[in-house]
Amino acid sequence: GFWEYDDAPQNADHVEYEDQYDLFIGGEFIAPEKGRYFDSLNPATEKKLTSFAEATQQDIDKAVKAARKAFDKSWSTLEAKERGKYIFRIARLIQERAREFSVLESMDGGKPIRESRDVDVPLAAAHFFYYAGWADKLDYAFPGKKAEPLGVAGQIIPWNFPLLMLAWKVAPALATGNTVVLKPAETTSLTALKFAELCKDAGLPDGVVNIVTGAGQTGSAIVNHDDIDKIAFTGSTEVGKIIKKSLAGTDKRYTLELGGKGPNIIFEDAPLDQAVEGVINAIFFNQGHVCCAGSRLFVQEGVADTVIQKLRDRMETLIVGDPLDKNTDIGAINSEQQYNKINEYLEVGVNEGANMYQSSCQIPETGYFCRPTIFTNVGQSNRIVQEEIFGPVLTVQTFRTAEEGIEKANNTPYGLAGGVWTDKGSKIFKTGSKIRNGVVWSNTYNKFDPTSPFGGYKESGEGREGGLHGLYPYVKLQ
Ligand code: NAD
Repeated sequence: GFWEYDDAPQNADHVEYEDQYDLFIGGEFIAPEKGRYFDSLNPATEKKLTSFAEATQQDIDKAVKAARKAFDKSWSTLEAKERGKYIFRIARLIQERAREFSVLESMDGGKPIRESRDVDVPLAAAHFFYYAGWADKLDYAFPGKKAEPLGVAGQIIPWNFPLLMLAWKVAPALATGNTVVLKPAETTSLTALKFAELCKDAGLPDGVVNIVTGAGQTGSAIVNHDDIDKIAFTGSTEVGKIIKKSLAGTDKRYTLELGGKGPNIIFEDAPLDQAVEGVINAIFFNQGHVCCAGSRLFVQEGVADTVIQKLRDRMETLIVGDPLDKNTDIGAINSEQQYNKINEYLEVGVNEGANMYQSSCQIPETGYFCRPTIFTNVGQSNRIVQEEIFGPVLTVQTFRTAEEGIEKANNTPYGLAGGVWTDKGSKIFKTGSKIRNGVVWSNTYNKFDPTSPFGGYKESGEGREGGLHGLYPYVKLQ
């Protein structure tokens, strides 16, 4: 297909990266003012991969100044068609360097190479292609209005889809004429800095994209900077709430893409093998580090035993291990911290009286790896049912009537995404429309496309990214 390529990377040969990375500000790589760097590990080996600069307030000031200058002097005054050309060039360069990006994404973050190769990197390119197309068509997007850029966007992203989340943020911002200061997550900053190199190669005017690395304090310096016009944040609900509080009373615009606890509902009439395959994908894709993961399964009583048995059988076939091996289904947990968090939740589940089942697969002795896990005998109030684990851990509950299934599905503080499995179209629409989630898939799961808006209800966030809706947060309409 258009997005795929034949060269299946199985090792890191010929993929180059530096021992240490500076900040990318105003089109240059520059050392952080305080001269501090921090190490980033490869979670599959627990060895140092590289190190990143820690950006402090003065560095953020510099980055915002560079972005403001680029906004005033070049980007916002450029003809829309020309802006689009740069974004198309970025998209093409991502495709050309797909192997390099895929391998580095897997080494830095732990995800299986099959996923970075077939999902993360192609979708990142697709987002740039899609929004490049909008750059000179804003008159069509907003008929009768003039869509003006806001200015400088501060963008903060998590570690589960590093390059893809960058694309979700940077592509619509650039297409609408904004400039960007982006902070990747501290455990997965490598592909963002590779992206910075790519921006230089694309000839993007200096300062249009600035990449600053660091942890929460760096993010907070962006959020609270006076000369930033818009904050786009993807991350945990906990940090999202802090950011929302900090922005109250300011005139900064914001979008928040936060956590989730996705319900997957299987009705008795569903094609069960297909449903089980979907459930496996929904919870074990990317080690379960997915905001929209289908982490709560609800099965109609009559088929519950069959579905659970099929799930267990399928789990036994999953290969956990080396992220760079293209046979791997479940790679490394992103960090030691996340590994500990998942294991704590396993203990919580057992202590709450749930039955834990784990596949018997081999897991490597070094590196942060978890066996795929399901919990049965769980109740609505159990912590493992209510709280986002962000790992390969599924809870299974049963229901009798559609009403009961829907009620249970809606009974968490989250509302990001979910799935419905049934043979009947009418049931899909009736159930789907009652699930209070931004996305409800039917007879499939984890389907993404740049043309579709994505975002949450309740504590899963505010605003939408992707599609035409993804342009709204970056423009003021005159
Ligand atoms: P996190 O909130 O800990 O960190 C996200 C980013 O925010 C990181 O870059 C981090 O350095 C930064 N940060 C931390 N504290 C900050 C502060 N006080 N001010 C500003 N920035 C700060 O989340 P995480 O652990 O990196 O990511 C996992 C979470 O992200 C999960 O909850 C997941 O559901 C969510 N997520 C949501 C979506 C979505 O589209 N809704 C997509 C992916 C991930």
